[in-house]
Amino acid sequence: MALIVQKYGGTSVGTVERIQAVADKVIETKKQGHQVVVVVSAMSGETDRLVSLAKSMSHTPTPRELDVLLSTGEQVTIALLSMALSEKKHPAVSFTGGQVHIRTDNSHNKARIVDIEAARVHKALNDGNIVVIAGFQGIDEDGNITTLGRGGSDTTAVAMAAALNADECRIYTDVDGVYTADPRIVEDAQRMPVITYEEMLEMASLGSKVLQIRSVEFARKYNVNLRVLSSFEDGPGTLITDEDENMEAALISGIAHNRDEAKLTIVGVPDQPGIASQILGPIADANIEVDMIVQNVGLDNTTDFTFTVNRADFDKALKILEKTSTEIGAKDVSGDNKIAKVSVVGVGMRSHAGIASKMFKALADEGINIQMISTSEIKVSVVLAEKYLELGVRTLHSAFGLENGVLSETN
Ligand code: ADP
Ligand code: ASP
Ligand code: MG
Repeated sequence: MALIVQKYGGTSVGTVERIQAVADKVIETKKQGHQVVVVVSAMSGETDRLVSLAKSMSHTPTPRELDVLLSTGEQVTIALLSMALSEKKHPAVSFTGGQVHIRTDNSHNKARIVDIEAARVHKALNDGNIVVIAGFQGIDEDGNITTLGRGGSDTTAVAMAAALNADECRIYTDVDGVYTADPRIVEDAQRMPVITYEEMLEMASLGSKVLQIRSVEFARKYNVNLRVLSSFEDGPGTLITDEDENMEAALISGIAHNRDEAKLTIVGVPDQPGIASQILGPIADANIEVDMIVQNVGLDNTTDFTFTVNRADFDKALKILEKTSTEIGAKDVSGDNKIAKVSVVGVGMRSHAGIASKMFKALADEGINIQMISTSEIKVSVVLAEKYLELGVRTLHSAFGLENGVLSETN
């Protein structure tokens, strides 16, 4: 008998019929003699609906109350799925995050899990139940409801699997695995049978929303046996695993993209020590995360400084930058929230030159202008105008031959 954690995302539980289909899938696993813990998301569109409801009350809803509201989406699904399971004669019990002590820190809307008390879940399982847990939510030290950031149910599932010492964590979604690029953009993207934690972390952090980045961090830290699969059809999916010596290192494993970006520029800044911290300090103080940074030195002892932030923080960041500009005597401030980031990812890049130049040439051949560039050991990212996003992703996917599967160091 194994203990298996299964997570079903929004589309997979989007209708009454879908919830019934999920119940059948869960029962199938239970009938194989396993203990099953199911983590579910809100029904598709529900979290977005709740966010816009909140926005109709207030432009900047109180983070605590927003969490009280958002956590209701998952609560609906756990109750419905448990009812469906019971109706099919399989005892099930539902729990909210708080009820199974998913303890988080107190940063509302993007809380981090710090501890899970597994005892109540083990007890319910040992009593013969299927346990259904609300994803995306937890409770802080003072008993306040918290949520884990968009896509957070993935993290609930993996953290639960780690806490329960489960044999497997299966993330069921609307695609049958992790692909070489978002299959909604690239028609001939290929499913990867395996991907390393490291590459998956990079893909997730660069925008591949198939897994929330924190879920991959947890999986790596606690060595969780993690697989992404389709809830609509059977198949092997994608296994996320440690690199092993028999695995051919992928030169390029995939193309990731992110639309949630905006760019801000301050020009004619007096070029002197401390200027970067004077510009970015107030941005950090406002709890705005900065992604890419580029500084250019001009000829006249001034410098231009450009950085990117999450698109949701654009207006706030622009206001702060305008104030800073006056204070430090810069010439001008500008911003653009119609940009996107496209990245090429692969661990084999470490030992290979020429990936960046191949990428730039492919984009240039399509007339796509690169606005910013950043590189690390295993990725190259570029910022481009949002209107070129899809063309950019497709161009790079074919430039690196990914329609033939993941490009390894030997081919
Ligand atoms: P769920 O509601 O099940 O959590 P998500 O919408 O969060 O599902 O994640 C699945 C989606 O992730 C897919 O429908 C796909 O469009 C998108 N996606 C982005 N990049 C990738 C990728 N490299 N491989 C697979 N899916 C991807
Ligand atoms: N319902 C939440 C969201 O839409 C969490 C999740 O689905 O993972 O982001
Ligand atoms: Mg998701």
